[in-house]
Amino acid sequence: MCSAALTSTPAPRRSAPAREARGDLEADLLQATRLQALAMRLVPGAGCDILLRDILATGADMLGAPKGCVLSFEDDDAACLRLAVAQGLSGRFIAHFEQRGWAALCDAAAACSPAGSATLSPAEDHAALRAESIAEIHSAPLLSGDGRLLGLLSHCLEAPRPLQERELLTLKTLARLAADCLERCAVERALREADRHKDEFLATLAHELRNPLGPIRNAIELLHRSRSAEVGGTAALLERQVQQIVRLVDDLYDVGRVARGQVELQRRRQMLQPIVAQAIENAGAMLHASAQQLLLRQPEAPLWVDVDAQRIAQALTNLLHNACKYAEPGAAPIELGIKGDEDAGEALIRLRDHGIGIAADQLGRIFDMFVQVDSPQRRARAGLGIGLTLVRRLVQLHGGSIEVRSDGPGCGSEFVVRLPLAGR
Ligand code: ADP
Repeated sequence: MCSAALTSTPAPRRSAPAREARGDLEADLLQATRLQALAMRLVPGAGCDILLRDILATGADMLGAPKGCVLSFEDDDAACLRLAVAQGLSGRFIAHFEQRGWAALCDAAAACSPAGSATLSPAEDHAALRAESIAEIHSAPLLSGDGRLLGLLSHCLEAPRPLQERELLTLKTLARLAADCLERCAVERALREADRHKDEFLATLAHELRNPLGPIRNAIELLHRSRSAEVGGTAALLERQVQQIVRLVDDLYDVGRVARGQVELQRRRQMLQPIVAQAIENAGAMLHASAQQLLLRQPEAPLWVDVDAQRIAQALTNLLHNACKYAEPGAAPIELGIKGDEDAGEALIRLRDHGIGIAADQLGRIFDMFVQVDSPQRRARAGLGIGLTLVRRLVQLHGGSIEVRSDGPGCGSEFVVRLPLAGR
């Protein structure tokens, strides 16, 4: 019989230098792990303040300096240093340097450093530091990728001491992260600003383009009254072109208003079927012009929805226009089906065409503003790439959703709109 005895292996004895080296390694590993965890938290999307606070808090913990701040230059103005975030600093201290200017804190910090001289900065600033129990400030510059000074990361110590090599590295790494964060937030701010300018420009453009359209339509109306066949023909042509412009301008106008939250829905509980009928009527001229047949399948029982009928009809009209616009000559009829899904509490509207279809890699993009799939078949078809953006926004405003399916170019497309069913 064989028996096994459990023996514990004695821990190898380490010499003092080995223990020290091991301790150093462990501390390095801990430092790297914490900094890496911090870097992972700096995900895009979180506000700049939250990210900087996180950096500051990590630094405070790792350096044993509970007070600190991030200062940044206002809009790249090297003369205007502002407080981005603070940690552990009293309101009085902040008010003092808000009033004096944060550059004064840098002067005071330099003056109270071991190499500095207290006479180099005003006594009132030193008094503010003393009142805050700050004996020394360790700062690291925040530099952009191209070397511009973006600000400073400062940690305050209550008792002066030089930072160890590891701590200096921590401060440098934190400063790098804070600089990246400031830089990224500045880029995001600039993007938002540019986006706002673009929205404002489009709104003004749509507004200005709308104004002359009224008189032009009146003039066409007058031309229609003429008895001359030639003038009547010209009037009809003008009317078709103007209708197209009106549609584009209206979409442009509405997409901006929806984006700015200026569209107020006139919602009421009503049947979906008449709204769909309205959309078909709106798209009548386009169906006719593109010689497209439409097959409608809908239940006889009413489907109740709580919507702004005009807006939902507008969205469906847009989808019908596209189905006509991107149709292939002689294609099978466009199918429009509506049904209720009581279990999901939704009304489903499916619009299937047998037109030019959409490539798989474009399906996820076509609802984005100004996106137009580029292909030789599409180039001749007018548009701005905002129709589907507007459709999606209108549907979403109603708590609904829209998705698109296509088996690829030449295989047609299917748009599925879901709207919440109204309660009984
Ligand atoms: P556009 O004014 O270009 O039609 P939309 O926002 O309505 O703008 O549509 C965006 C793009 O999606 C179109 O340029 C077209 O490439 C594609 N698309 C939309 N509807 C269809 C459809 N029924 N069949 C094929 N492609 C479509």
